Amino acid sequence: MLVRIAAAGSSPLSMLAPASPRRQDVQMDIARTEAGSEESPPVASLTARALALLGDHWTLYILQRVFLGERRYQDIHDSINASDSILSNRLKTLTEGGLLAKTPYKDGRVRYEYRLTTTGKATWRIFVAAHSWENSWLDPIDGLRPVLIHSQCGHLAHPQLICGKCDLPVTARDTSVTRSGATLSYASALPRRHRQNRTLALDGSDPYAFRTETMEILGDRWNTALASAAHIGIRRFSDFERFLGIPPTVLSARLSRFVELNILRVQELAGSNRRSDYRLTDKGRDLAAILIQIVRWADENLRTGEPASIEISHDACGRKLLPEYRCTHCEQRLRRREARFELRECRSS
Ligand SMILES: [Zn+2]
Ligand SMILES: [Zn+2]
Repeated sequence: MLVRIAAAGSSPLSMLAPASPRRQDVQMDIARTEAGSEESPPVASLTARALALLGDHWTLYILQRVFLGERRYQDIHDSINASDSILSNRLKTLTEGGLLAKTPYKDGRVRYEYRLTTTGKATWRIFVAAHSWENSWLDPIDGLRPVLIHSQCGHLAHPQLICGKCDLPVTARDTSVTRSGATLSYASALPRRHRQNRTLALDGSDPYAFRTETMEILGDRWNTALASAAHIGIRRFSDFERFLGIPPTVLSARLSRFVELNILRVQELAGSNRRSDYRLTDKGRDLAAILIQIVRWADENLRTGEPASIEISHDACGRKLLPEYRCTHCEQRLRRREARFELRECRSS
């Protein structure tokens, strides 16, 4: 990915989420991260809000279950085995975030079910991207695993990322990223109602769910932001720190974990006094397909006037990237209503 840094646009505060309930904190974050910075003042952004909203493993898990048709509180509760406080907190966040609509129904007395809104349904490309990444990079496990079926042709879709403007296949290497002066500091992009707790260990126990490693990367706000920062060309510890507004101890632990997971590798810098930086591995670089879909989703569904911190263009056609998926069997474009996940028995050997 080629990275360009655009001049900072409008006033930093105009780029904040207007509904942010913690605007004061945001201003404090800016003041803190600005110290010692020669770049334009960092601000929270559209992308940061999307990552803050989706970067939670329970949230992703609940969305997956709703996509599978579970709408009622008790059904979701029974299938994900979450406490009432976790489930009701996440449902509240998803409803306030506009992904789910809470609808009353009568079952003796009035109860509520949760339906995906247009905004919620639009996250399906992010799920397709994450499943594709899992299939490419995680060791296969025995048992039932979800595969994407294209109902138009009836075959396994093996989705291929393409540019919706020119129809050519796209990888991270074929794109350029322009970032504004906005940072991914989203410490205040959402209310801190969720305490991050243990990563869900789901391998095999719920075949539809993401694998544990995927959840660790995507279901955690700091990790999704860290991966995004690496994709827009940030390499040095101090730059991550400033761009993410992340406490150094948290950053240090996350970077080490990303190295363990083979998402990042440490590159010793020649001629410098034992200095090093962090580079994406091929496995890490392939996460771009997921981040590209998150950027599109935020752009189309969360925008309230502020510019995105990240704009991605397709080098081959020079236009703003519209990431789509194509079925590799029939080469038709994949649409949500024409594609479904089904469980198939998989053998790792
Ligand atoms: Zn293109
Ligand atoms: Zn097809």
